[in-house]
Amino acid sequence: MVSKSESPSDLQHVIPRNEHTLSRSILSSAALKVLQRLSDAGYRALLVGGGVRDPLLDIKPKDFDVATDATPEQIHGLFKRSRIIGRRFQIVHVRDGREIIEVSTFRAASETKPKQSGKDLFQLGSTGQIIRDNQFGSIEEDAFRRDFTVNALYYDIKDFSLVDYTGGLEDLKQRKLKIIGDPLQRYREDPVRMIRAIRLASKLAFQLDPDTAAPIKENARLLRDVSPARLFEEVNKLFLAGYGHETYHMMLQYGLFEAMFPEADVQIRSSESLQLFISQALINSDNRVEQGKPVVPAFLFSVLLWPQASQRYQQLLGDGEPPIPALQKASQAAIAAQQTYVSIPRRFTQNIREIWELQPRLIQRRKNRIFPLLEHPRFRAAYDFLLLREQSGEQLDQAGSWWTDFQDANREGRDSLIDALPGNKRKRSKPRRRKPKNGNSP
Ligand code: ATP
Ligand code: MG
Repeated sequence: MVSKSESPSDLQHVIPRNEHTLSRSILSSAALKVLQRLSDAGYRALLVGGGVRDPLLDIKPKDFDVATDATPEQIHGLFKRSRIIGRRFQIVHVRDGREIIEVSTFRAASETKPKQSGKDLFQLGSTGQIIRDNQFGSIEEDAFRRDFTVNALYYDIKDFSLVDYTGGLEDLKQRKLKIIGDPLQRYREDPVRMIRAIRLASKLAFQLDPDTAAPIKENARLLRDVSPARLFEEVNKLFLAGYGHETYHMMLQYGLFEAMFPEADVQIRSSESLQLFISQALINSDNRVEQGKPVVPAFLFSVLLWPQASQRYQQLLGDGEPPIPALQKASQAAIAAQQTYVSIPRRFTQNIREIWELQPRLIQRRKNRIFPLLEHPRFRAAYDFLLLREQSGEQLDQAGSWWTDFQDANREGRDSLIDALPGNKRKRSKPRRRKPKNGNSP
């Protein structure tokens, strides 16, 4: 064990089980097992983070995080299906069925905790970012290194009490998201906290505490120091968790969207139609999440980067490039330009480009390409994308409603929709019934 048991002063921060509303029943069986096994082995084991915060607000938690005084090696030793993960600091992922419980050792990492022992517990890089952050500490220190007061509430499996060192329970009652410690310093240590502030305020429908909000706009550009791979993960959490639309508008307002998508930001600010396009896409994916349907990063990024891809596309068309090669070049360049801010893994970039590159084909509707397009693995996404473009005011020859009708129609209906398209007769792969002549001929 890395810390002593709690001191008498800790007791002031304990809310006994009969004085709060949280019950053990909110725990997943995996979380309960992890807590119980740590506790049986003689360690302190507490639930922390969203797994405590959300149930207090009647929200079903997304995942469960556990904090303990066992070291990563000790945790790993207790659970067969566990892995020590960690670059900046080590945590342990314990797997149980499909669930992963994140277990972390109490640690002290920030100047903002009240009792600094004077030891060199962390180092700051030139911009103030934490570069070494793996010092173990007491539960109190652990509470103060967390980001927001409502995220530093613990549920103690030993006696089912709540532990609150930072005033999180009061802030939760007032629906206030407040950073722990000095806001600017905490953002400098880890700029992702600015994004988390926006994301959690949207998710929980909380007010951002004025001091917590104040430095964000001016310091949004600190995000440029965050690794583009980490930002990719954050962007997905921001926009694919069911409250993306609200989050997006707050991100724009606080200059955080600009810091991550600078090119798209410029285009959006000068085009109402692009604004509508992104808003509508995010509303749709929020609705999908609510209905339990899947939402995927490739579609999200095809939407978020479309402003910069379409701007390049228009420019190349203007230079006289034919549509298809123009779009291919524009797609490649738009994605490449984004990678230095938010890196998009290769397995997604191909799909993003396909969604875009299907656009002119879906609009053009060449007669003998209709069925192959319908069978394209990215057809559905590209069609949804096309509908969004039309809904946001682009005039695309009513291709969206044509494809809607086409998918709904029976075989005859499909034939006549194709026949009604301008251009050469279709080379038919299937036998086709002739339309009866309508009596004008001799
Ligand atoms: P949700 O799971 O709903 O996204 P969460 O608060 O549980 O919200 P996690 O990313 O699961 O978010 O993190 C778990 C906990 O770890 C947080 O509640 C917080 O206490 C702490 N934490 C996460 N990220 C940071 C950070 N960048 N700085 C400080 N503490 C953090
Ligand atoms: Mg969580």
